[in-house]
Amino acid sequence: MRVLVTGAAGFIGSSLSQVLLERGDQVLGLDNLNAYYDPRLKQARLDRLLPYKNFSFVRASLEDRPAVEAAFDSFGPQRVVNLAAQAGVRYSLENPQAYVDSNITGFLNILEACRHRHVEHLVYASSSSVYGANRKLPFSVEDNVDHPVSMYAATKKANELMAHTYSHLFGLPTTGLRFFTVYGPWGRPDMALFLFTRKILAGEPIEVFNHGRHSRDFTYIDDIVEGVVRTLDQVAAPSPAADGPASPATSHAPYRLYNIGNHQPVELLRYIEVLEQCLGRKAERRLLPLQPGDVPDTWADVEALSRDVGYRPATPIEVGVARFVEWYLQYHGG
Ligand code: NAD
Repeated sequence: MRVLVTGAAGFIGSSLSQVLLERGDQVLGLDNLNAYYDPRLKQARLDRLLPYKNFSFVRASLEDRPAVEAAFDSFGPQRVVNLAAQAGVRYSLENPQAYVDSNITGFLNILEACRHRHVEHLVYASSSSVYGANRKLPFSVEDNVDHPVSMYAATKKANELMAHTYSHLFGLPTTGLRFFTVYGPWGRPDMALFLFTRKILAGEPIEVFNHGRHSRDFTYIDDIVEGVVRTLDQVAAPSPAADGPASPATSHAPYRLYNIGNHQPVELLRYIEVLEQCLGRKAERRLLPLQPGDVPDTWADVEALSRDVGYRPATPIEVGVARFVEWYLQYHGG
């Protein structure tokens, strides 16, 4: 299969690409290697993919429409996984324009390219952040999510609406996956596990928001990648159940939307304890209030994805955090 993976130098995109390459798919990675966080880490992830003969790479931005179209035309993808995006909740308070550029204009370019080239299936990244604050737990895709509390969340919700429109109007099969706090080797330096590890090893205090009392449905990278591959393999079909209540307007759209999480929320303080055990060091905690844009708790109901594609997250945090630490120490030379 020819699969275009956008965000291929990113945390999830590079891990996904490797699994697709290992099973023999042709993969074209697209990424602009931007400087939101250390581009050397992105390059290092890419360096793991470049030796595969079935891998090619184009450096381009999603919002550069001619470049996106040229990539589609030269490669002719059958399936597309759109992971490139401006990620991060807190940064979206400072730089909302970056989110509109990558996540709205860029995503529109992907939809247009898929539509005009009859791509069989577009899988794209949404986020648990669309659930906003103070919601009933666990989060279900049936819940109303009209109240995002950050521009990041608003653009991810917009992606779901845009995908639905393209599925409905043009019959483009799309599947949105709402990722829940992904962690593991090759993870992102702006996320808690990486930040905490760096600071604990440097003997610096860690900032623990909401006094560590919020919980996250931390999901291990290999479980996520397996779920994405299973979803990609099964082309979205008209599915009134996954589409909310059946209605003449939506019931025939080949549109699906799922949570992809661990279904095991863990309090941040417990996550830190596990990290301390793996590092063999104690953290100095600076307890702070909940930050604007952050949601207090996340917890994924993954029943629909388990039922439809056989998704079964299997990695407890004790195992996943230990694997992250092992990778971190190797990558940073101890
Ligand atoms: P990441 O930042 O590591 O990867 C994104 C990649 O996309 C980066 O390599 C970046 O250079 C590239 N990129 C960004 N904007 C681009 C643009 N306009 N054009 C081309 N390339 C661009 O992030 P990740 O953690 O791998 O996340 C992948 C996707 O999953 C994102 O859409 C993110 O919003 C979503 N997501 C991730 C998490 C998580 O916990 N990691 C949670 C929810 C949703």
